[in-house]
Amino acid sequence: MSFPSLEPGFKSRLAHTTRRDEMKIILFGPPASGRGKIGREVAKSLGLRLISSGYTLMKKAASDPTLSDYMRKGEVFPDKFVNEVMSKEIPMDGGFVLVGYPYSPEQARFFDASNKIDAIVEFQMGEDVIMKRVAYRVVCSDCFVSFNMSTDKPKTHGVCDLCGGVLVKREDDTPENLKMRMYYYEKMSKVMNDHYRTAGVPIVVYRVDPSATPSENASMVLAELRRVGITGEKSS
Ligand SMILES: [Zn+2]
Repeated sequence: MSFPSLEPGFKSRLAHTTRRDEMKIILFGPPASGRGKIGREVAKSLGLRLISSGYTLMKKAASDPTLSDYMRKGEVFPDKFVNEVMSKEIPMDGGFVLVGYPYSPEQARFFDASNKIDAIVEFQMGEDVIMKRVAYRVVCSDCFVSFNMSTDKPKTHGVCDLCGGVLVKREDDTPENLKMRMYYYEKMSKVMNDHYRTAGVPIVVYRVDPSATPSENASMVLAELRRVGITGEKSS
């Protein structure tokens, strides 16, 4: 799998002159690493909008039997569909923290045509920890935000903190599916990493602390982002 070469001038546009409210950050992480929750905290601290491919696509799949079938089998959604759905979520103006997208060469090609990225955050977490976390994972049946009954409990048992929806086990959270999703993640995160590194985008690698809360992890991510010049302070 290879990328087409990037257009000339792509690199020069990545100079760190982006206004704070126009910063675009991509966040990748393996399944159950807390990327959605931590991403939400990071976005809040930077005053940016959070866009999660996970919530967006799960919401879509909830009303589409063909798509929910992909999920049940642990398969990835077709690129064309993902691009179509995500392009409606990604604003034309202003910055964002984007979680889990683009996630394939075809998606990156589509995304890069209208967006320039200021930084990538790549989460890391050991496989044994991921397997344990999934065992305790529940997801909101309305807004699809995940909670962990061991490390990130909702305030009220069985109820989503954010929207009051009912928390349920994800039906695709089986060990077989998880193995498949993790294999795909490993492969794709490497491809995405190489792609954006070649384009000169700063990449922050962060090892998630599984014993810390999403907001504690977010503080540590923000500290790492400051090192590559991404700060929460207004620069202009
Ligand atoms: Zn909810």
